[in-house]
Amino acid sequence: MDYIDLRSDTVTKPTEEMRKAMYNADVGDDVYGDDPTVNRLERMIADILEKEDAIFVPSGTFANQLALFTHCERGNEVILGDDTHIVQHEAGAASVIAGVQLRTIETDKGVLPPEKVLERIRKVEDIHFPKTGLICLENAHSNGRAIPLENFEKIRKIADDYNIPIHLDGARIFNASIALGVEPKEIAKYADSVSVCLSKGLCAPIGSLLVGSKEFIQDARKKRKIMGGGLRQAGIIAAAGIVALEKMRSRLVEDHENAKYLAKRLEEFGYINIVEQVDINMVFFRINKKFDENKFLDYLYKNGIKINPSEDGIFRFVTHYWIKRKDIDRVIELMKEFFEALE
Ligand SMILES: *Cc1c(COP(=O)(O)O)cnc(C)c1O
Repeated sequence: MDYIDLRSDTVTKPTEEMRKAMYNADVGDDVYGDDPTVNRLERMIADILEKEDAIFVPSGTFANQLALFTHCERGNEVILGDDTHIVQHEAGAASVIAGVQLRTIETDKGVLPPEKVLERIRKVEDIHFPKTGLICLENAHSNGRAIPLENFEKIRKIADDYNIPIHLDGARIFNASIALGVEPKEIAKYADSVSVCLSKGLCAPIGSLLVGSKEFIQDARKKRKIMGGGLRQAGIIAAAGIVALEKMRSRLVEDHENAKYLAKRLEEFGYINIVEQVDINMVFFRINKKFDENKFLDYLYKNGIKINPSEDGIFRFVTHYWIKRKDIDRVIELMKEFFEALE
């Protein structure tokens, strides 16, 4: 059965073109730097984001943790939003791998208040103080918002004043670029390093990239080896990543339009309210009605629709390449059936 899968944009299976590219990929041993397909992919993302170099890694979590591990010394402090992926969804990796302390700040719907960042920076040497090693930003934010660049500009200025590098978690940087109406490099320019996911809306089966200066990426290659991420004929998967960057970026706009359409249709219910601005391919909403959530999930599942359970009463539906308008209409129709049967 072909499910309508709204759980995430990570459920996207590779396209036919990706499967062919993978089959035909020219490969070598990437630990020796010999894989032409990996090298091409790394060059491609570095050029798109106007950075000197890039490194291919297995996942977005890997890319972020490699960035922390490369920028920081053990015992450093990293300043970032308390609602970021690095804090919320990376299983505490920062304390295990880089051995850093995360200094979190409450954000305003994903926007990190610059004055709070300034406040948290360790400004003097004192044997009691950890050193501020890094500031992390996220765009698009995992709450579905594209963060305005005026905010990044202010934080960059503060970081420069204290000589602190910035890492941008750009897992969905291409979604942010479309939502903000700017080139991806215009977002990347505020950061020293950027992580990018190929396996979300871009449909590649596996893979992320970390981008930065030549020297930073050189250090990261050794750290990646420590983390067990030195892959051999990785061109097999990088080949799909090349198709992702070449062919799948511009169509993300369709996912954004479908998410807006989905939000509009959900509002028809009257008792459903959308709780976050719909900037990219995610719709967050609350159902203000008494119902049995397990029965709801079950009902949809039996009818070929997969969704995640709510988190603190909030549902998240994600649109992507394999979700078409008619699928959204089908979901709305079934939800109406379910809720009308309750009355
Ligand atoms: C998905 C995601 C990641 C990394 O995800 P992996 O599942 O490890 O590939 C990192 N940051 C953000 C904001 C994400 O949405």
